[in-house]
Amino acid sequence: MTQYAMVIDLQKCTGCGACALACKTGNNTASYNNGQTHNWADYQPEVKGTFPNTKYTMRPVLCNHCTNAPCVDACPVTPKAMFKTPEGITMHNDERCIGCRLCQQACPYSQMEVPANSEAYSVISYNKAGSPYQPIFADKSELVPGITTSGAELAAKVGSVPPHRTAYSHPDYQDVRRGGITEKCIFCEHRVKKGQPPNCVEACPSQARAFGDISDPSSEVARLIKKYKPSVLKPEAGTKPNVFYIREYSVRS
Ligand code: SF4
Ligand code: SF4
Repeated sequence: MTQYAMVIDLQKCTGCGACALACKTGNNTASYNNGQTHNWADYQPEVKGTFPNTKYTMRPVLCNHCTNAPCVDACPVTPKAMFKTPEGITMHNDERCIGCRLCQQACPYSQMEVPANSEAYSVISYNKAGSPYQPIFADKSELVPGITTSGAELAAKVGSVPPHRTAYSHPDYQDVRRGGITEKCIFCEHRVKKGQPPNCVEACPSQARAFGDISDPSSEVARLIKKYKPSVLKPEAGTKPNVFYIREYSVRS
């Protein structure tokens, strides 16, 4: 049985953030949500020392698609809104979610409050507002009456997707997710099932991310895990993450 995993090579990573941007545009996540960060793919910068003797490192973070996922155990609805697919993806179903946030409390990699522009992160986000998206994305009014059109109208005229919607539909989550529920990375399951890599993997200019079937010894993820000594975040939590890190970030001073 296929078991999906991701390997992030920290030595190849340059900290450019293209992964986070690709996720945000591809999955239509909010930029900020009532003062909280709202990123399915995020990164954790760390600056040590004082100028001019400083060291900077950066670690991309996302849902670890844990084999032992406490977020799934904590979800109280039946059938569960947070659940595992047979291929190991931790999936979220928007319709079933009641927004109790017990998953967020249970996940060792999530926090209930993450102020914008802080160095903290939460792999599960909560939509506080009625709509988490910038009003301009859904605004159908002309920018300059009689002269310009709205973004939504222009998109419709050229047969494109309006900027507040995603380019795909999915049985488990809505392209515009409502307020009052949680959401998170789903390893771009909609792309993976079509044989495409997750958005973050495709966008990385350094090819620092590999994605594939860890149960297949010939896959790139299995090969990298065998070649390098991988690490996972918070191994002491016993969650058995399926996002692995190899090598070290090239420390910049
Ligand atoms: Fe669940 Fe958190 Fe693990 Fe993702 S990282 S599977 S949200 S416990
Ligand atoms: Fe389940 Fe939604 Fe509650 Fe999370 S917020 S535990 S997914 S019902």
